[in-house]
Amino acid sequence: MLAAWSSLFSLALAPSPVSFRSISRALSVSRAGNPAALRMAAGPVCIVTGGSRGLGRAIALALGGEGCRVVVNYANSAAAAEAVVEEIKSLGGDGIAVQADMSDPAGINSLFKATAEAYEDPVGVLVNNAGITRDTLVLRMKASQWNDVINTNLNGVFFASQAAAKVMLKKRSGRIINIASVVGKIGNPGQANYAAAKGGVIGMTMSMAKEFAARGVVVNSVAPGFIQSDMTDELPEALIAEVMKSIPLGRFGKPEEVAGLVKYLALDPSAAYITGHCLNVDGGIAIGTC
Ligand code: NAP
Repeated sequence: MLAAWSSLFSLALAPSPVSFRSISRALSVSRAGNPAALRMAAGPVCIVTGGSRGLGRAIALALGGEGCRVVVNYANSAAAAEAVVEEIKSLGGDGIAVQADMSDPAGINSLFKATAEAYEDPVGVLVNNAGITRDTLVLRMKASQWNDVINTNLNGVFFASQAAAKVMLKKRSGRIINIASVVGKIGNPGQANYAAAKGGVIGMTMSMAKEFAARGVVVNSVAPGFIQSDMTDELPEALIAEVMKSIPLGRFGKPEEVAGLVKYLALDPSAAYITGHCLNVDGGIAIGTC
């Protein structure tokens, strides 16, 4: 049970009073007759970028289910993000949906501004999950395909982590989890842009972990293999069949299987001693690279 996060996030939580917003939201949900909402949603404030769909959605729900106050960021899918927030509330957490473009530093600033306006407590957890693919072979890759992926998947992670660190280092507490990919470790044809971004995220994670450790802020990355989502739904069937042969567990992963590890790294007291690492959730496709 991960509810022990309260001991870890004592600065952000314990003796500080539960905000009026949290109380009123919990009450309004409990009035609707949901017993889960009788728990007070006063867990850490968690930002999940790209929380409207796929892995981000599963991560947002996993954190919300532990009573966290989750900022569900999205680019275009407003209705999907609002639905995630409603589901979080039904699980006893709290949340808001915030549209912001993670490929643009101005969008990242607006996300952190909206978070500070919504919750008095500082952000305790940042999950850098938003990501895109623009796959093609190197010789065909246009500058826009390279730049779009680098801006979203690499630059976005840097600027969001920098914004979170400004708050977390001051509070001497916080956890940053970056969703990388096994492609950033072993490469993949057609994904030079994606591999460069994800490999960069893994290196950035190590550097930030060393910089922030003295102030009690831990930084880790998670490298999924092939996970069922809109992103992998785009893959041609022939490629899926080929990929499947190289996955020892013989199947794609589920978003919830990635979310389970993220929840552990974000909330579990014992994860306070893990920093700078990149852990695979990959059915064994990249054994030996952890
Ligand atoms: P997905 O289903 O395509 O969802 C992508 C999410 O990112 C959506 O919530 C989307 O928001 C958001 N997003 C995209 N660009 C954004 C931007 N500029 N600003 C803000 N939000 C943005 O992808 P997924 O498969 O869940 O992947 C999530 C993460 O896991 C990515 O970083 C991906 O690289 C990584 N990953 C996935 C796999 C896999 O097999 N699925 C494997 C390894 C790593 P909208 O809904 O508004 O578009």
